[in-house]
Amino acid sequence: MKVYFLGTGTSQGIPVIGSHHSVCLSNDFKDKRLRVSIWIHWDDFSFVVDCGPDFRQQMLAANCHDLDGILFTHEHADHTAGLDDIRPYNFRKGPLPIFAHERVLKSLKRRFDYIFETENRYPGAPSVAVNEIENNKPFAIGNKTAIPISVWHGDLQVFGFRIDDFAYLTDVKTIDESEIEKLKGVKVLVVNALREEPHATHFNLQEALDFIALVQPESAYLTHISHLLGFHEEVAKKLPKNVFLAYDNLEITV
Ligand SMILES: [Zn+2]
Repeated sequence: MKVYFLGTGTSQGIPVIGSHHSVCLSNDFKDKRLRVSIWIHWDDFSFVVDCGPDFRQQMLAANCHDLDGILFTHEHADHTAGLDDIRPYNFRKGPLPIFAHERVLKSLKRRFDYIFETENRYPGAPSVAVNEIENNKPFAIGNKTAIPISVWHGDLQVFGFRIDDFAYLTDVKTIDESEIEKLKGVKVLVVNALREEPHATHFNLQEALDFIALVQPESAYLTHISHLLGFHEEVAKKLPKNVFLAYDNLEITV
């Protein structure tokens, strides 16, 4: 299975519009981060986790011709705002399967009412096939099984996903013991690390490193990064040897 980092930035992306912060002005391509998302693909199957405002640009950059579905972590705009741009996949294959918590589906139905409209649909409007994710209920994606991992983004419940020995968790601040159990034996873990300073709803760097030390994957990749974390090159040097700072357009094999 290949995991392609479509975006590794926090909600505003890097550079932040109008910012004069040195990281926002950096010329290093690894310091340019679109909104957080991954593309996972294997054999003939292809899924993305989240569909933020940079979705179109990301699909073009990754040259992702076919898509079998979108797994949503939660409803925040940096994870969902690109849903209108699934149309090229609809025109090729029909309604695109989406997988999300009931609460997230409600939010999408309110914000993208025209996508879910069943009568008098605008011709060419995006179309989806809805699949509800419930905690403790693994579900099929292609010929694999996705295990939902429920985490806390402050007070908001968010899903991460385990597929075989790979797990992707973003927007985590806390995680219950029962959910950590589900990560046992994971070889590659992706987890969010916002910045060095603590934050109310996201792991900071130390919290992410402590969590990685607890889960003990063979390797870990940090994502959902703010410009405040610093320059990619400098932060990367400070990390334990099995922990890597992800960057946009990085592809790994798991
Ligand atoms: Zn986010």
